[in-house]
Amino acid sequence: MTPRTLTKYTVLTMRTGLLIDMDGVIYRGSQLIPGAAEFIQTLRRERIPFIFLTNNSQRTRRDVCMKLQRMGIDVEERHIFTCAMATARFLAKLKPSGTAYVIGEGGLLQALHLNGYSIVDHEPDFVVVGEGRTITLDSLELAVNMILGGAKLIATNLDPNCPTKGGTRPGAGATVAYLETVTGRKAFSVGKPSPIMMRAARKELHLATSQTVMIGDTMETDILGAVQLGFRSVLTLTGSTRREDLGKYAFGPDVIVESIAELCDIGRFIDRDLPKANQDDDTVTNMADWVAANA
Ligand SMILES: [Mg+2]
Repeated sequence: MTPRTLTKYTVLTMRTGLLIDMDGVIYRGSQLIPGAAEFIQTLRRERIPFIFLTNNSQRTRRDVCMKLQRMGIDVEERHIFTCAMATARFLAKLKPSGTAYVIGEGGLLQALHLNGYSIVDHEPDFVVVGEGRTITLDSLELAVNMILGGAKLIATNLDPNCPTKGGTRPGAGATVAYLETVTGRKAFSVGKPSPIMMRAARKELHLATSQTVMIGDTMETDILGAVQLGFRSVLTLTGSTRREDLGKYAFGPDVIVESIAELCDIGRFIDRDLPKANQDDDTVTNMADWVAANA
């Protein structure tokens, strides 16, 4: 089949790609969820495009990749997309070669550097907030005065907390709320469910909207983000959401599964259990490029 013989619609039905959340879907803390490694193996064998989407800005792409490999998940750096990467790319477009004061760790610092940003400790263009263990009252006070002095407040994500082995770790959302309360300024957030990150992840895989499926465990981020973008979504019940919680939400996933293990026969799942896609939101501007990237 040559590009000339394809119509927009035959091309768009050719494949489905997956955006996959990690914590609560693939693992819980340091514990691999049964079936996760087999699931990823199947995706690679069947050549189904996928990318892991994380709202944790602490680690670099390589660090996340290593963590997954050590757990027995066969992935490469290209399979990882973090909110730190999404934030840095967004800022580089908004203000190329800008400056940032960072409350966060290596993953965020490295992503900003890679995207042409300089890290400064006075008069930054942006105060950028991620998670990490290095926050001090001094750094918060510094950030407050920068924001009041005109720096824009950017959140890598607004997750309020993150479950850990020992209990609960405060998330970037808590730090952002602190800065918003003190300054009266509102942060702009780039991580899930922001369309900025959801769309960037889809584009990493060269997928159209109708080909994109989000798999996640959290309604407020994974599923809400998918609903807003017109992606189909699958909720796994191995993480933060219980089946009885679903009644609290005015939106919902397309499919609910107990665990990722139920998706190991991915071909059958896509054909039989996943609702058919709606192509209303798809745009194909250059068919030859699209086929080169996807066929
Ligand atoms: Mg999760």
